[in-house]
Amino acid sequence: MSVSQGVAVVESPEDVKRRLEEASETNIATGCWSLPGEIELLGRKVDARRASYFVYIGTIGSSKRIVTTCGNHDCINPDHLRAFASEH
Ligand SMILES: [Zn+2]
Repeated sequence: MSVSQGVAVVESPEDVKRRLEEASETNIATGCWSLPGEIELLGRKVDARRASYFVYIGTIGSSKRIVTTCGNHDCINPDHLRAFASEH
């Protein structure tokens, strides 16, 4: 039985968490996990903050934006993230 290649591999949330933790830098003083930019999630480039919120906290409504509560724009620590409904 052959193993088909090129099939999209769906990462488990645990895999994504490990990747986020390895890629980010932890600031011991503030507890911030700094990871600017984007990571690839399920074959798509997504904002690292959104990826972190998604795997640690849960689904983000498409109308929500993720903001940091600690003032560090690059922070992806889920404890420092909040989802807010966009004002429309
Ligand atoms: Zn932070």
